[in-house]
Amino acid sequence: MYRIRRDDTPFESFFFKLPDTFLLVFDEGLRLHLISDAWLATLGYDQEATPPANFLDLLHADDQAASRDKIATMGSDNPTLRFSARCRRVDGSCLGVVWNISFDAERRLYYASAHETAVHLNGSDAHLPDTFVDGLTGLPNRSLFLDRLEHTLRRRERRKELMFAVLHCGIDRFKVVNHSLGHRMGDLLLMSVAGVLRDTVRPTDMVARLAGDEFGILLEDIRDVSATLLVVSRIQQKLVMPFQLDGHEVFVTVSFGIVFSGDTPRSPEDILRDANLSMVQAKAHGGGNYVLFDKQLHDQAVHRLELELDLRHAVDRGQLEAYFQPIVGLADRRLHGFEALARWRHPGKGLVSPVEFIPVAEETGLIVPLGRWILREACRQARAWQLRFADRPPLSVSVNLSARQLAHPDLLSDVAAILAETGLPSTLLKLEITESAMMGNERQAIAVLGRLREMGIRLLLDDFGTGYSSLSYLHRLPIDTLKIDRSFITNLHANPNDRHFVETIVHLAHKLGLDIICEGVEQAVQAEILAGMDVEYSQGFLYSRPVAAHEAEMLIITGL
Ligand code: C2E
Ligand code: MG
Ligand code: MG
Repeated sequence: MYRIRRDDTPFESFFFKLPDTFLLVFDEGLRLHLISDAWLATLGYDQEATPPANFLDLLHADDQAASRDKIATMGSDNPTLRFSARCRRVDGSCLGVVWNISFDAERRLYYASAHETAVHLNGSDAHLPDTFVDGLTGLPNRSLFLDRLEHTLRRRERRKELMFAVLHCGIDRFKVVNHSLGHRMGDLLLMSVAGVLRDTVRPTDMVARLAGDEFGILLEDIRDVSATLLVVSRIQQKLVMPFQLDGHEVFVTVSFGIVFSGDTPRSPEDILRDANLSMVQAKAHGGGNYVLFDKQLHDQAVHRLELELDLRHAVDRGQLEAYFQPIVGLADRRLHGFEALARWRHPGKGLVSPVEFIPVAEETGLIVPLGRWILREACRQARAWQLRFADRPPLSVSVNLSARQLAHPDLLSDVAAILAETGLPSTLLKLEITESAMMGNERQAIAVLGRLREMGIRLLLDDFGTGYSSLSYLHRLPIDTLKIDRSFITNLHANPNDRHFVETIVHLAHKLGLDIICEGVEQAVQAEILAGMDVEYSQGFLYSRPVAAHEAEMLIITGL
């Protein structure tokens, strides 16, 4: 029988393509024609020993019949097969193995590549469950990886000096390959990357396929972090050359998230989640790189995740409140209306600022139901005040509208329904949008704003000066009012630049027929300067902070 050695020139080009060195060839009688040295060494045969003559003799007695039956189903119409079966080692122990077998109908030969699953089973009763092996790559799967990690952690409890590292590895832009070259190519790529990872680490380290294009590597008994980074750089170097997949050259890079064994005891799931988190960070930096897990990053992410989960219930559990901040005429110091601002009374965390939860709501899409809720609440309240204080000029209410809401197909019908339901005249509703809310699909956004305006609703451009603030833009937007951001007001009285900016904007806005609200007015001197510039309205702590509805009502009654 021929034994392939590592430095042999493979006489079958078939072997060229396989990253594995665990290879064998047998015929229809299952007689072995060829077996790789690496494989024999793994099974414990030394150079002089005679290897078994029949494929089945390599296997555990209990797996022989089933394996023979599976191979018997192969033929020219069913040329490939993958299954797991245990191998017998010379010392009597068992080794879990995934077999990939191809049948060459012309030569009537079977080519088999074996993949160790890193499950070392002892005794004959141990079974290698298929549920531990990834079908495509033959690598251990997530469950097995977690299992091994658990074992590592337990070992470390006894011997603290044993360091380990968990690497979460993701193929950058894998979806692009999968979509542009097809799933078959995607599969080939996954198999090739799996091979590179497997070949780069020591045989005692575990490489597993965790999910889709994500792999896990467990490096055990390492000295320090630098040993881990060395493995990362070796893998990156191997990936510099493209893969040849079915006549295509495919270049890939991978991103790593790394958790190094620390002192705080954690569960395997936690460690893997942290590694995953860092990997996502590495990808966000452009890919082809690594990020070492960091505690602060972890805490932030956990906090955010909790916030997101809780936010899902905030509306239906009645934890949201609408607060109202007065909008005041600068010439007459009279109350003209309120801006409705969302507040979240979290059962455990107390009052959460919208600066914290609005961005989360926007990212997750929760802003749509949340925004609908605050719109209804603001309209309902404004209508109640209109009826209660019928003898005074009606107060308007401003509601903030986010990008997601603006792009949502139901926005116009939602607004119309809420106005009809609450009975608030559309002329008393103002909607605040920011420049960034229009980015992406400006044309559609402008069309929607036009429709809102036709309904009689007035539109405000919020936070002006902080975004793109292209002045030519102002012509094109169907808006009524410009709201100058508070960052220009804070130092208005001390900083001539801010003063000039505000002056110029006010001048221009007035020419375009827009009126102005200045946000963040905290001092009387600021209000004076703005009044001198003929700014119509102001809003800020000088008059009142945003307050609950019943307090806002007191402001209506007692005046500012
Ligand atoms: P915004 O729409 O620009 O709201 C004005 C923010 O400035 C409010 O912060 C308000 O409390 C604060 N503010 C007002 N006057 C002063 C002042 O004199 N000094 C200082 N330092 N701050 C002042 P708040 O309530 O924390 O809201 C922050 C942002 O969160 C809002 O900025 C808005 O973009 C967003 N937001 C709040 N509620 C909602 C909502 O219901 N829907 C949407 N889409 N966004 C909301
Ligand atoms: Mg606003
Ligand atoms: Mg603002």
